[in-house]
Amino acid sequence: MLPGELTVAVARLKGAGPATLRDLHKLNIHTVAGLLMHLPREHVNRRDEVLLLEAASGKKMANTVVTIAAHSFFGPPHRQTLKLHVLDRQGTVAELPCFNRPFLAKTWPVGVQAWLSGLPESKYQSLQVAGFDLELPPPGHAPGTPLGLAGTMVPHYPLAGSLNHTQMARLVKQSLEDYAPVAFEEELPADFRSQHALVDLDSALRHIHFPPTLEDLKAAKNTLVWRELFHLQTAVLRRSLSSSSPNRVPVVLPQRLRQELLRRLEFSLTTGQMEVLKEIDADLSSSVPMARLLQGDVGSGKTLVAFLTALPLIEAGFQCALMAPTELLALQHAENAARVLDPLGVKIAFLSGNLKAAGRNALLEQLAAGKIDFVVGTHALFSDPVEFKNLRAVIIDEQHRFGVLQRQALLRKGEVVDLLLMSATPIPRTLALTAFGDLKTSVIRTMPHGRKPIVTHTNKMANQQKVYDFVKAELALGHQAYFVYPLIDASESLDLKDAQGMAAQLSSLFPTHKVGLIHSRLPEEEKTLVMEEFSQGKVAVLVATSVVEVGVDVANATCMVIEHAERFGLSALHQLRGRVGRSGLQSYCFLVFGENLTDDGKTRIRVMMETTDGFKIAEEDLKLRGPGDIAGARQSGFLKLSIADLGRDLPILMACREDLLQRLSRDPGFELPEHAGLKRLWEKCPPFSDELVAL
Ligand code: ADP
Ligand code: MG
Repeated sequence: MLPGELTVAVARLKGAGPATLRDLHKLNIHTVAGLLMHLPREHVNRRDEVLLLEAASGKKMANTVVTIAAHSFFGPPHRQTLKLHVLDRQGTVAELPCFNRPFLAKTWPVGVQAWLSGLPESKYQSLQVAGFDLELPPPGHAPGTPLGLAGTMVPHYPLAGSLNHTQMARLVKQSLEDYAPVAFEEELPADFRSQHALVDLDSALRHIHFPPTLEDLKAAKNTLVWRELFHLQTAVLRRSLSSSSPNRVPVVLPQRLRQELLRRLEFSLTTGQMEVLKEIDADLSSSVPMARLLQGDVGSGKTLVAFLTALPLIEAGFQCALMAPTELLALQHAENAARVLDPLGVKIAFLSGNLKAAGRNALLEQLAAGKIDFVVGTHALFSDPVEFKNLRAVIIDEQHRFGVLQRQALLRKGEVVDLLLMSATPIPRTLALTAFGDLKTSVIRTMPHGRKPIVTHTNKMANQQKVYDFVKAELALGHQAYFVYPLIDASESLDLKDAQGMAAQLSSLFPTHKVGLIHSRLPEEEKTLVMEEFSQGKVAVLVATSVVEVGVDVANATCMVIEHAERFGLSALHQLRGRVGRSGLQSYCFLVFGENLTDDGKTRIRVMMETTDGFKIAEEDLKLRGPGDIAGARQSGFLKLSIADLGRDLPILMACREDLLQRLSRDPGFELPEHAGLKRLWEKCPPFSDELVAL
């Protein structure tokens, strides 16, 4: 039996009354398995006694047995706060204020003994212990005697409501004694465990809660981390294999439309584009649907790759969909598609959430009837009423946080659908091995020919006039500029320039040029209009917030001015800079910064000066932000880890993956006797669930 299969309800445990159950449910604990995997956040060492006086004078935690001597109340009459008065064996008195915990009066009646830990402070002529823990001493403990070794390491758990550590420990102990099997089944292969010095699962689970020694605790933790990541990789690999079971007749890809598009282009494909197309073609013509992640820096020409991916499928009579994260980007892709694909006779449509009912219904009918070949839109594309006749490929742009379940939802719109995810943000290793561990990856490593490297300058706010003069000269040459600000409108609390205010100022600074304003609070129609005017060159200066961050493509723009650059994250700065340098024209990026830069702010600006390589910038970004990025992945439901930490345990994750891949190639069905446990685990891992860990 695996621990995860202990589905006995916690309600069956002795001492789990309605109030306790409510609190356990708050912690998302419903079964004995959940309780066992609710791990202590720390263990308190009860071996070395520290009496109240000694603790107060040495400013360390008290750790001793006290007697509850009295209860009293303080505060306004209608909101009285309980105070416990306690006494240690030297007769030292301390006061324990119980803010918002009146129920402690019942738990700790006068006369009982309790283990106290907490930091005493001399205040109001007495000793006060504000953040304290009280626990029952071990049964049979004689007052006044030293603590002894029983309960040397006491588990402290994340708590909710009026639960306390003693109660939790009792419930866990009961679960282990009454409900756990004599020994849990070992699912990890024996050679794997000995190779990594793991203890057996049974001791690991018992010792993580009640460790006899510190060494036992360490061994238990280490074992459970390896185990959790091994399970995670099992789920990821199982998913990648199950989505790639052969299930369609391979097709030869017709090339006429593609050739025609390439003939019409004013440029030829970069080697990077050609290489990834080869990889994509191999997927498209195989019996296994494509599941591929395409990474390529800003400006590397991913959109064209998307079109070239769709064309052979459209020529073969299928439908394709291109999804973008924002209305703005989707619209731009639709316009691009109209320009590039329309002349080839491809039927294109744009579907957005804002479409009025009449137009929308007509469009939905055409999609369902197969009269549209290529549909571009936002996530509205995959809402329920949308039906396709024969959807064959889904291409998703710049949305690498796309959840596995969302991916599944859109793949269900067709029978065997190819999936291509495109991203300019390099995917950190941890995500590549987990959330995207089921995708193959391609990288465009070259930029289009004739691109001049963007010249990046830094300027102090005080010298901004120089920047404005420079931009004026560029505008005079007929080029265009972006000005980006951290705020939409003026803020009282922050002394920052804002987009709205600066749009007005820049209009008077550049009186002969039209200045446009775009930010997220404008109605969609207005955004669309401004973007159109900017891409047609009617608007020369676009004032914006970071809404222009991803994907916007106006080749004639040569200046990107980012004011208060220190307020933007590295990946945002990189994306913003990538809006210029999209043609043979020399382009410039100005990072204008204010006073009082933080260390992180300085580092970000330095990195931007040193490199334009998006992969390097992403690495630096990860260093600066630490595992926060991974926390993001956790929140989005990819990973629910209870003990492993991907920021810290990446090497372990990689080792588990390697190990599993080797085992799979040696023993594909896990038929060998030493893989019996692994085989059960494999079968239990849900192939498509947001919850990757089977336990
Ligand atoms: P991204 O990868 O950032 O999405 P885009 O697809 O927006 O990049 O392409 C950036 C610009 O480069 C577009 O204007 C596109 O037309 C142009 N482009 C794409 N491929 C090439 C190429 N092989 N040679 C020259 N320009 C190209
Ligand atoms: Mg793009």
